[in-house]
Amino acid sequence: MKKIGILGSTGSIGTQTLEVVREKEDLKVIALAAGSNVEELERQAREFRPKLAVLYNEEGAALLKEKLKDTGIKVAAGMEGLLEAATLTETDIFVTAIVGMIGIRPTIAAIEMGKQIALANKETLVTAGHIIMPLAKEKKVDILPVDSEHSAIFQCMGQNGREEVEKLLLTASGGPFFGKKRKDLMDITVEEALKHPNWSMGKKITIDSSTLVNKGLEVIEAKWLFSVDLEQIQVVVHPQSVIHSMVQYQDGSVIAQMGLPDMKLPIQYALYYPERKYLRGDRLNFNQCLQLTFDKPDLDTFFGLKLAIEAARKGGSAPTVFNAANEKAVQLFLDRKIQFLQIPEIIQWALESHKLIDNPSVSQILEIERETYELIKSRW
Ligand code: NAD
Ligand code: MG
Repeated sequence: MKKIGILGSTGSIGTQTLEVVREKEDLKVIALAAGSNVEELERQAREFRPKLAVLYNEEGAALLKEKLKDTGIKVAAGMEGLLEAATLTETDIFVTAIVGMIGIRPTIAAIEMGKQIALANKETLVTAGHIIMPLAKEKKVDILPVDSEHSAIFQCMGQNGREEVEKLLLTASGGPFFGKKRKDLMDITVEEALKHPNWSMGKKITIDSSTLVNKGLEVIEAKWLFSVDLEQIQVVVHPQSVIHSMVQYQDGSVIAQMGLPDMKLPIQYALYYPERKYLRGDRLNFNQCLQLTFDKPDLDTFFGLKLAIEAARKGGSAPTVFNAANEKAVQLFLDRKIQFLQIPEIIQWALESHKLIDNPSVSQILEIERETYELIKSRW
């Protein structure tokens, strides 16, 4: 029996993780944690009977406690609650399916306790990869990628060593605006940006996919996960999302991982690694004409990707500023306060206003996040 904790259980990755658990008798949920959705967490807690249910929102948690009175399930709140969910002694693996840097402290706490990490929360590695990866190594903890591209690379890596790898080929669908130029993107609405051609995901990551900022975050995530140089990562636009990423080896061989776009595959792979188990669902049909096309990313139109690579190159606190500025800008766009093309402009402005700090600590990262939010709030 594998015992799991889920941070962000009510979101897109969280609910798909629970769909995987529902199908398997050898997976048991020990802790569920979410932001503020009382009804959904109550429903999940009643179905999966964890030991602990956490709502970050204090009022929501008080309400949940009342609602779950008859169940014996413990209810906790706030960061303290998230840390408790991360560190319960029973859990074997902790799924980080929360959005944003709020995942850093619980992830570190879980690693400290020797829990395996199934990592979806890319913002954590983007901003604190220099802290998380060495700590995981020290504690002999696997960071198992849930992000589909990183899971693909992880699967393509097999038994091969890092030194045999020449390049990681990170595929990108190109999002709903693939092929468009800046002049076409002036009046993009929130609804248009939320229509992803191949994947159904949370709002923030869907907007990030439409700007290619998501791919930028994934380049940084890949750099940390697979300890390669930035120069060894190439973004390849592949609109069909059939190949989820590839690894090119020193002898020129390229190994790809393919499948239909379904996040349950990388989630389940991380939960059972190194085993593969049956997963219900459709399969790729090679009797149908399957067209796979590839292209270079357009870094002028989607300059958020270029900014991410620049921030990664600078290192230190730059990826934190990049990520925090993007979070705020995406929120402003979703609130219809700024135009689509202003998202990368705001990120660029925040990066230019920032004085770089090398090797930031967790508290510095969180402080820089707050400062970046404040800076953007002062102008928009
Ligand atoms: P989502 O918005 O659907 O869900 C986010 C979850 O986090 C919700 O359960 C929410 O309640 C919880 N949450 C938010 N603030 C919280 C807080 N303060 N305390 C506790 N819980 C809180 O997001 P998502 O699309 O599932 O994405 C989650 C992460 O996975 C992101 O980092 C994203 O980049 C990454 N990811 C998602 C996908 C996908 O297909 N959705 C694919 C790859 C990577
Ligand atoms: Mg991805």
